[in-house]
Amino acid sequence: MGKQFAIIGLGRFGSSIAKALYDLNYDVMAIDLDSERIQENINTVTHAVQADTTDEVALKSLGISNFNVVVVAIGQNIQASILTTLILKEMGIKTVVVKAQNKLHAKVLYKIGATKVIFPERDMGVRVAHNLVTPNILDFIELSDEYSIVEIISSEGMANKTLIELNVRARFGVNIMALKNKSYINVAPSANDIIRKGDIMVLIGHNKDLRKFEDFVMNGK
Ligand code: ATP
Repeated sequence: MGKQFAIIGLGRFGSSIAKALYDLNYDVMAIDLDSERIQENINTVTHAVQADTTDEVALKSLGISNFNVVVVAIGQNIQASILTTLILKEMGIKTVVVKAQNKLHAKVLYKIGATKVIFPERDMGVRVAHNLVTPNILDFIELSDEYSIVEIISSEGMANKTLIELNVRARFGVNIMALKNKSYINVAPSANDIIRKGDIMVLIGHNKDLRKFEDFVMNGK
């Protein structure tokens, strides 16, 4: 049996997650208070159920305790989001991912055991900003306030050089975790591996060091 996901709250965020997981062939149960939202999503999930997830009895009757991962994507109603998360954690659901409205909401969610709290608008804003400044950046994951993972396209000047020649770790303090292209991925590049034209580098490091490296890739400095 593969992973089973339940998505609570079918706003734009919740319904996108539900559809994406369903398209990846996972079992997805979608839950919303609003029957119109259920109708809108009925063809893009495995089961769509109308329920108030702040009602413990209702949640239990849906068999939600069998789900590996539950995403709480209730937006505006912070109280409903917190109550739902609390009930899910008390039921023993291991992974509960919750969308937060603000920092205080996030703090409460972590205190009651949320596995991961996300701020979709903020995260997308940060991503777009990075992409505007450095078009070579394809993706960006914040690990903490200080450390991130970025995917960046190598520059022309880097092509056909080995990692030891570029000496990225010593010069910039960042690590190349993977090199990838349309046709291959190298998840443990060694010092003698060559960067080919158009290779995407997956880097991890301190934000300050990553920025220096981004400048180097952009300007050849
Ligand atoms: P988005 O930005 O993702 O579109 P949003 O932040 O505007 O979403 P809302 O529309 O406020 O979020 O909430 C998302 C969904 O959560 C709504 O469809 C709403 O009906 C549902 N919801 C709210 N409270 C509950 C609840 N107690 N039980 C189940 N679903 C709920």
